[in-house]
Amino acid sequence: MSTSLSNNQLAALAARYGTPLYVYNADRISLQYEYLQEAFKGVNARFFYACKALTNISILKHIRSLGCNIDCSSVNEAHLALRAGFDPGNILYTSNGIAFEEIEEAAGSGININIDSLSNLEKFGKKFGHSYPVGIRLRPNIMAGGNLKISTGHEKSKFGIPIEQLDEIVLLVKQYNLHIAGLHIHTGSEIKDVAVFMKVAGLFFDLVPHFPELRFLDLGGGFKVPYRDDETGTDIQLLATSVNEVLLKLQTTYGKTFQAWFEPGKFLVSESGTFITKVNVIKENKTTTFAGVNSGFNHLIRPMFYEAYHKIRNISNPGGPLKKYTVTGNICETDTFAGDRELNEVREGDLLVFDNAGAYGFEMGSNYNSRYLPAQVMVRGGEDHLIRKRDVFEDLLRNQIELD
Ligand SMILES: *Cc1c(COP(=O)(O)O)cnc(C)c1O
Repeated sequence: MSTSLSNNQLAALAARYGTPLYVYNADRISLQYEYLQEAFKGVNARFFYACKALTNISILKHIRSLGCNIDCSSVNEAHLALRAGFDPGNILYTSNGIAFEEIEEAAGSGININIDSLSNLEKFGKKFGHSYPVGIRLRPNIMAGGNLKISTGHEKSKFGIPIEQLDEIVLLVKQYNLHIAGLHIHTGSEIKDVAVFMKVAGLFFDLVPHFPELRFLDLGGGFKVPYRDDETGTDIQLLATSVNEVLLKLQTTYGKTFQAWFEPGKFLVSESGTFITKVNVIKENKTTTFAGVNSGFNHLIRPMFYEAYHKIRNISNPGGPLKKYTVTGNICETDTFAGDRELNEVREGDLLVFDNAGAYGFEMGSNYNSRYLPAQVMVRGGEDHLIRKRDVFEDLLRNQIELD
């Protein structure tokens, strides 16, 4: 099982499928999942892949084949999960800001649901009473995560029911005899510090007595993965040990067992993905040398949107002298992937690859500037499979109604 693809493999895939191209190494996804399983051995925990990171149906099927569960952010993702063969009991829908109709639709499939507003909780109570076990998404007022755009638990965040409204939640639960099976707190993405998860876990101690039918405590996702050579990710082993301690302490305090749920997205798929682009133009200026590639933020928005760092490698000239380049896209807007980045000398036609492109890459792509979405390829056991065709011209007109 190969968990990283060689430059030669990537170049061969670029030649075979064209560029820009997303390549996903399924064996790496398997490895990440096995790593979680190993770290959490003996811990009462369950993992739901937060599929908004990457929803290609073949990737979902691969993740299902590993025995992983799935977390969805829209009812359409839940339908994709069902299509990929997940059992309804293994699907979790963590909603935010949605119409009650969407919750009803999800309930129609019998999947697990986390509700994140008092109004939807009330509507749910009116309709389902005690008949449908449900989870509540809480906002803990904790600031965490890589940057403000990916922080979801702070006191100005739209996510979850603010924890200070506990009294109102408890009133609704009593009024409608709601069956509260779980509590959910997701504080954000790229949380390196295990202490943040422990802070969240600590909150459960005071909450548990209010919900006698609780079975699971959902700590969300957001495990950090390393993007730079000198970075490390969340210490998963430490997380497992610490969570286990909390579960045991809850057991002794309340005389019942709870299951910890997690929703890793990035952790499972980020490092599996490589985005391959080709250099269209080199522009030398007095202060800057631009390497303009045949892609843009329409294909990988993370640098422009979050100022995210992606490692970039010139696989066509890996021994070339190091020089500084500003790597730009071809979209008619400011479109910068990296500024003054040291790369092996770049020539027109070279392949520049972006690492850590598996999560929130293709998924946040668009047809802006009427450009095609790239193709997606999955490599598994050394074999490559096209899992999404590159757009063609007709795709740009699909659903448009052409008036004379
Ligand atoms: C996005 C999201 C996740 C996954 O976050 P990652 O940083 O990709 O692990 C987990 N849970 C919920 C509710 C989310 O919205």
